[in-house]
Amino acid sequence: MADFKVTELDPELDFGNLSYWDVVIIGAGPAGLTAGLTTAHRALTTLIIEAKDKPGGQPQFLYADKRIVDIPGFPDGITGEELSARVYRQAVDALVQFRFNEELVTIEDTKEIEKGDTLKRVVTSRGEYLCRKVIIAVGLLHFPRKLPILDALDSKKVHYKMPKIGDYEGESVAVVGGGDSALDAAVMVQQRNGRVHLIVREEEQAGKADTLERVREAGADVRLSTEIASATLEGGQMKLTLTDETSIDVEHAIVQIGFLSAKDTFQRLNVRLNEDGSIVIDPYFETSRKGIFAVGDVHGDIKLVTVAWAEGIQAAIYAFKEITSPYWLNEKRLRDLKISLIGEKLASDASQLSKSRS
Ligand SMILES: Cc1cc2nc3c(=O)[nH]c(=O)nc-3n(C[C@H](O)[C@H](O)[C@H](O)COP(=O)(O)OP(=O)(O)OC[C@H]3O[C@@H](n4cnc5c(N)ncnc54)[C@H](O)[C@@H]3O)c2cc1C
Repeated sequence: MADFKVTELDPELDFGNLSYWDVVIIGAGPAGLTAGLTTAHRALTTLIIEAKDKPGGQPQFLYADKRIVDIPGFPDGITGEELSARVYRQAVDALVQFRFNEELVTIEDTKEIEKGDTLKRVVTSRGEYLCRKVIIAVGLLHFPRKLPILDALDSKKVHYKMPKIGDYEGESVAVVGGGDSALDAAVMVQQRNGRVHLIVREEEQAGKADTLERVREAGADVRLSTEIASATLEGGQMKLTLTDETSIDVEHAIVQIGFLSAKDTFQRLNVRLNEDGSIVIDPYFETSRKGIFAVGDVHGDIKLVTVAWAEGIQAAIYAFKEITSPYWLNEKRLRDLKISLIGEKLASDASQLSKSRS
């Protein structure tokens, strides 16, 4: 079958009573949604499990209102929310099935064999699903890093993702952090006539210098080498005292200081990890556990929606090829596996030799 040919799933299928799924995908972000769309378009029964109550991943939850300008085909940009809604609709139309508010716990090997595949058991917070292939697309950035000094205020005006536009229009906002996400947040506040106080702990921001310049030129109060030392709430306003002993009054604080990694989830899966905690994959997006693929931010150096899409599609097609099992793919894969094992052996021998010499 040509890679671009679409074979639709039978709409009469009783998805609620399948004894096993062809593919279970974990995560309904850009990578998971496109992987699902692709497997369903190859007539594979596909289930996507998503921890949150909605699909979309980071574009939906972290920057729903941001106009994304680097998606090919959208010369005027598209918001994270609209992009997510469009891809989700396409997946639903392709008969991908979804379970929301359900979190992956672990993936077990079973002894059950279906059509030559040993089935896996995907265990979630709400149930268990047998399947032939699993695609992990849970992203790497699960939880925004919190700032306890601000959390202690217990205020709805302390945000760890961009608030809805109307929530801060024309108001005074402290943006905490110096990476691209913080600078993007500052730009968005300014576009809504908000006054920005940018608080960066480091001497220099980590994000793009030209964005910082833009923020400065638009009138932001940029404080480098400083942190929030204390915070109080007075009559709906936050009073922030900084480590440079100045203080500022703001209506909102948007904190963008990075994310805790998904390492715990990955360790439970018992797949090989890189030193930075991301998942090791082979050139076919398969992890160290056969039949389990990983795509998108979970392993990649380049964290972009389009890259997550492309990886989701590729892994889905490799999973499909493994399921339909053409001889040439398996032969090529066996050869690649041998080459990579020889490479690993040579690297380990060379490292032992250099240790014994020193
Ligand atoms: C502030 C910001 C701005 C960005 N701007 C751009 C931009 O302009 N252009 C661009 O191309 N990229 C941008 N990116 C990067 C882009 O959003 C990511 O690279 C992309 O979302 C990665 O997609 P993903 O599907 O791999 O992961 P994610 O989008 O993280 O999706 C993972 C999904 O898996 C779910 N999940 C996690 N754990 C579990 C679990 N245990 N069980 C079930 N479900 C789970 C999550 O809830 C989530 O829905 C930006 C990122 C940030 C943070």
